[in-house]
Amino acid sequence: MSPTAMPVREEARSTGKIETRLFINNEFVESIAGKTFDVFNPYNEEKVASVYEALPEDVDRAVDAAEAALPAWDEMGATARSAYYYRLADLLEAAGPELAELEAKETGKIASQYSEHMFGAKGLRLFAGLAQDLNGATSLATPGHVNMVIRQPYGVCGAIVPWNVPIMAVIFKMGPALISGNTLVVKSSEKSPLTALVLARLVKEAGFPPGVFNVLSGFGNPAGAAMASHMKIRKIGFTGSARTGRLIKEAAAKSNLKRVSLELGGKSPLVIFEDADLEAAIPAAALSILSMAGQVCIASSRLYVHSSIAGVFQEKLIETLKAMSANPPEGTDPLSPEARHGPQADKAQFENVLKYIELAKESGGEIILGGKKQTEKGYFIEPTVIRNPDHNSRISKEEIFGPVLCFNTFEDEDEVMKRANDTEYGLLASVYTKDISRALRIAKRFESGIVGVNTTSPMTGAVDMPFSGWKASGDGVDLSKASLDIWTQMKTIYIKI
Ligand code: NAD
Repeated sequence: MSPTAMPVREEARSTGKIETRLFINNEFVESIAGKTFDVFNPYNEEKVASVYEALPEDVDRAVDAAEAALPAWDEMGATARSAYYYRLADLLEAAGPELAELEAKETGKIASQYSEHMFGAKGLRLFAGLAQDLNGATSLATPGHVNMVIRQPYGVCGAIVPWNVPIMAVIFKMGPALISGNTLVVKSSEKSPLTALVLARLVKEAGFPPGVFNVLSGFGNPAGAAMASHMKIRKIGFTGSARTGRLIKEAAAKSNLKRVSLELGGKSPLVIFEDADLEAAIPAAALSILSMAGQVCIASSRLYVHSSIAGVFQEKLIETLKAMSANPPEGTDPLSPEARHGPQADKAQFENVLKYIELAKESGGEIILGGKKQTEKGYFIEPTVIRNPDHNSRISKEEIFGPVLCFNTFEDEDEVMKRANDTEYGLLASVYTKDISRALRIAKRFESGIVGVNTTSPMTGAVDMPFSGWKASGDGVDLSKASLDIWTQMKTIYIKI
């Protein structure tokens, strides 16, 4: 089906004003098969919306629309493209309350703590500015020649994103992808499809030409898998679990060898030395594991505290975790301005975290806080701290993605570095110390793409710095000028003079 022949309906289908259709060629359209899936509120387990599910034939028509839009978008030039970004950034900022409400409903995120729209707008403005700076290189090294390297878009690209940061993850891909002349098909997560559709509406309002940006709601299989093996998609930017990252690379290898960049999970260590500023370190450690109920790729989920301060650290950490996660007595609705601690995003996440807490009991560690579901209804789990679990146990090694902290103690620097680095992941690692030489030595020794010195996640909100993982945390780059390189390909031109 050609993009122009798609069924179009102007009114939103589902409850209230929630948009539930696919966004293809600047129109909201039902999926070809008309199949839908339901999204539930993890706070009260009630249905939020029935959303149209993209199947492979919908992937094809989104790709066709993106392909048709490509020549004009590429020819337009980066500076002209940046005007759309500035408009979209303003619209995104203004849509904060709507997005916060939807994310609270579909993922249980605390609405009063919502900030993806601000971070996303900042990212869009960064890339709009970088439009002036999309260049290659020249060389006079060969006699009789002026040679050059130009950077060009891949063409039709894909973005497959996770549920926990559904706006940010899309913008971190569309930012560098579209500014450098690619067109994009996004597949949102089946757990949080609603906000990407708001972003789609804003893209249209900002005046982006049809087909440049398309959004499909749907499952990893079949929609995501159809994108990963699609012969017309030349590059995919993926954010999600290492397990899915592997599947996407495999599908790419078996189809057209499309480029794949991966931003994956983490098991981030946070090392606290005996000279650390505990007034800063304790709330930071607590916030890092409580933020979004621990459902953050850079949550500092492995804490290493020097044994000489472990007693006082533990006592104050537990006090702080309890205070920071105390919900108001009248309820735990993430939409309430007083809510502090949200639920896991869905039943599967909830059961998975409880399974890990069960494993903690076999790990030799002691549960010194929490360890249970928190409420009768909804998917709330108590902030949980496990003291000294076995280093090789699954809870020490695997990403739990919940409010579960491994509290370890250590005696000396070499020992803690060995343990901190002994993981397949390498996303964020943090250290608290007042000794600047030690801080820099440790920063260099961490096997990690991002390091925090006297700070940890949630990070500063900087968009000009690369966000990337080492080892099994991925091989991509989000944000910063460096991300332009992974959304463009080089062409070397030899010119004889
Ligand atoms: P996930 O891997 O289960 O799903 C991510 C996306 O992949 C979803 O859209 C899903 O539908 C899709 N998918 C699933 N199977 C697929 C397949 N076979 N082919 C193509 N697509 C497929 O991850 P999730 O549960 O949504 O997100 C949580 C994970 O994401 C955690 O591991 C977290 O650490 C990671 N994450 C990483 C970053 C980062 O920047 N490094 C940021 C946020 C989240």
